[in-house]
Amino acid sequence: MKAMNAPRIDLYSDTHTKPTPAMRQAMAEAEVGDEQNFEDPTVNKLCAMVADLMGKEAAVFLPSGTMCNQIAFRVHCQPGDEIILDYFAHPINAESGGPSAVSMAQTRALHTTHGIYTADQVREAIRPSRRNAPRSRVLSVENTTNYGGGSIWPIEEIAAVTAVAKEHGMATHMDGARLLNAVVEGGTSAKEYGKYFDSLWIDLSKGLGCPIGGVLAGSVHFIDQAWRFKQQFGGAMRQAGIIAAAGVYALENNVERLAEDHENARDFSRAIAQIPGIKLIFNRCETNLVFFDVADSGLDAEEVDKRLRAHGVRIGAMGPTRMRAVTHLDISAEQLAEAAHILSDVVS
Ligand SMILES: *Cc1c(COP(=O)(O)O)cnc(C)c1O
Repeated sequence: MKAMNAPRIDLYSDTHTKPTPAMRQAMAEAEVGDEQNFEDPTVNKLCAMVADLMGKEAAVFLPSGTMCNQIAFRVHCQPGDEIILDYFAHPINAESGGPSAVSMAQTRALHTTHGIYTADQVREAIRPSRRNAPRSRVLSVENTTNYGGGSIWPIEEIAAVTAVAKEHGMATHMDGARLLNAVVEGGTSAKEYGKYFDSLWIDLSKGLGCPIGGVLAGSVHFIDQAWRFKQQFGGAMRQAGIIAAAGVYALENNVERLAEDHENARDFSRAIAQIPGIKLIFNRCETNLVFFDVADSGLDAEEVDKRLRAHGVRIGAMGPTRMRAVTHLDISAEQLAEAAHILSDVVS
């Protein structure tokens, strides 16, 4: 594919953040060693920080969030087991069929508005223990919900759905790609969320601004098992401290500032809600994701994307007429105001 000119204002995803000079300096100066022998002090520090943040005994550094999900499922599941999650959850839609390919597990999708399902839905989805039924094995919660508009799971809902799972002997897992967005905005600590899950992880390469990586946390026993699969999947690294240093830097410097991204996203959503032909998809914008529909403009998402790009703005097309704008640390309030103007121009 031909390389596209880099957009001036890139709202495609918070994965498009670039490491800052200060982060790069921390990376350049990182102390390193052999990660596989637990001899990389920077990786060890990052894992200890995340385990502590989540209130878990241990953590493991992995190349991506996808690998965090896949390894967690691989640890929790036997072939033929079932993972219960939201219909739009990342492992169902954007991990190349990982649950079936890697864990030989099937997924059970629950339909929701914001990616937040209820205890009743879980109760209804759990299979009777019958020889011919799959075994309901893992309950997976995505927080914040990506395709659910960046919504935050209320802690009461988490307590309710995980209690049902536990009653039925299931493991509980949180896809916390954007957990720290939920923590900063909602005021519930990562530790509090962590109490309800056997495994949970954060992504470093989204709003935290790192180039790569995710950190998966759980009990010592869980992390021991996760390490076997990290090795098996080829995710065991060597002098990985050079990238873990970005994670340490991000946890020390880029967490509180996520609140700015949320404020910017809300301002942007209010601005574009005024544009004729643009309709916000969710009735709330809690964190850094803004979903909208362009159908009423008479254009489709692909055409709006093309026109925006001609003006140096990039917003992802997420369906025939659905688009998603993401705020992040490389985007200022001024740039968002400009992007809203340009969007208004290209749809009118
Ligand atoms: C991005 C994302 C992932 C996958 O993370 P990668 O680091 O891109 O592999 C998983 N779940 C959710 C909700 C995400 O947004």
